[in-house]
Amino acid sequence: MEAFSPIPPEWVDSATHALKFCCPRCGEPPSVATAVWINRRAPVYTHNHKRKWQEFYQCECETVWWAWSSDRPPNPWQTNDSPDMPPPNLDPLTGLEDSWGSFEP
Ligand SMILES: [Zn+2]
Repeated sequence: MEAFSPIPPEWVDSATHALKFCCPRCGEPPSVATAVWINRRAPVYTHNHKRKWQEFYQCECETVWWAWSSDRPPNPWQTNDSPDMPPPNLDPLTGLEDSWGSFEP
């Protein structure tokens, strides 16, 4: 899983824009996605000077969709009952800026 690879995976070509931050076909959230790719090479500046970028998800139903990072709800999986086990393939999304590389005891 290379969510931050500079090279887009082939499956993003078929992505459709999801206006809500979930699969437009089955409504599943990105936490169930089987693959993710984040287009951080091409951020867009919003009117209030925040950056946003496209996040691509391949749903478990095989639908590929994307949405703006600014539309992502904060840490949706923190509300479930297994906070010790975030989806390993999506864990980097919990802290795009500050939670990687350093592990604090
Ligand atoms: Zn789906």
